[in-house]
Amino acid sequence: MGDKRPLSEPLLQSNKRLKRLTMPKRVKKGDDTIGEKLEMIRKTVTTVNEQADKKGVEYECNLCGEVLKEPYPRPLKRLIDTVKKNEREYRKEQEEEYKVLKAQCEAEGRLVPPFTFLKGGISKNDQSFICRMHKVELVYKPMAIEKGYPTHIDFEEIGARVKLFESELKDIVEGRLESSFLETVMRVHQELGSVKARQTKQLMTRFEETLPGYYGNRGSHYILEALDKMFVKTDYLDKQKTSPLTPVEYMQQVMVPECGIRLIKQDLNLANLQEASKVMKESSEYGSTVYNKLKKK
Ligand SMILES: [Zn+2]
Repeated sequence: MGDKRPLSEPLLQSNKRLKRLTMPKRVKKGDDTIGEKLEMIRKTVTTVNEQADKKGVEYECNLCGEVLKEPYPRPLKRLIDTVKKNEREYRKEQEEEYKVLKAQCEAEGRLVPPFTFLKGGISKNDQSFICRMHKVELVYKPMAIEKGYPTHIDFEEIGARVKLFESELKDIVEGRLESSFLETVMRVHQELGSVKARQTKQLMTRFEETLPGYYGNRGSHYILEALDKMFVKTDYLDKQKTSPLTPVEYMQQVMVPECGIRLIKQDLNLANLQEASKVMKESSEYGSTVYNKLKKK
């Protein structure tokens, strides 16, 4: 990886630096077998858990305080190496600046202030990036392997897959097929009234419940995109059909999770949608961390 960043640049303060920090090259898929990956992750986790105090701190996450020790999975290693290199360079810069200051003070006969080392200088954004990365690499990736969630998701394929659910989704809209998600949201609207049902707290709870499991927010986005093409652009969904919800709410709160359980059922070859529903609930935290937003292109 070519690293041409000049030494004098400030550390991790600008967006520019954020980009460079977040851009370590991706490992080519298929570099390691799953077994090797698991082994590597296990080793790291064991090291973190059992030997954290044996050999001194390797890397302490600024955000959650977790102490990480080598060997790291490769993407995490690249990131931590970059951060550490930045820290070393930052320290060197400060020492250089101090030397100049010291010389100046001495030349002018002023008192030399003591050297104080400013640690880190990592932006909040970078901190949460690192924190998320170590959780993904050390907690969620092993979880995916253990639970059998797909370790790779082709998000571009979701549109075509969702298209195949079209008639079932229409059956739900027309009342020919039951939907537990529709029932829930109808109950909430009945119990609370539509104004209260739309309050932030209510929406947040339902947002979590309707997240399509391990597909995460990114999956949600692609599913919604496909639904919009199928049902809104074609004028199929209107307020009459979706009342008391708006068509958008209906897609978000009923159709997205209905697609989620169907995708999951297919992925994992599950016997029925109830089982898929369980997996969806179980894996929503995974999804919202691992696929928390759209990938920058
Ligand atoms: Zn952390």
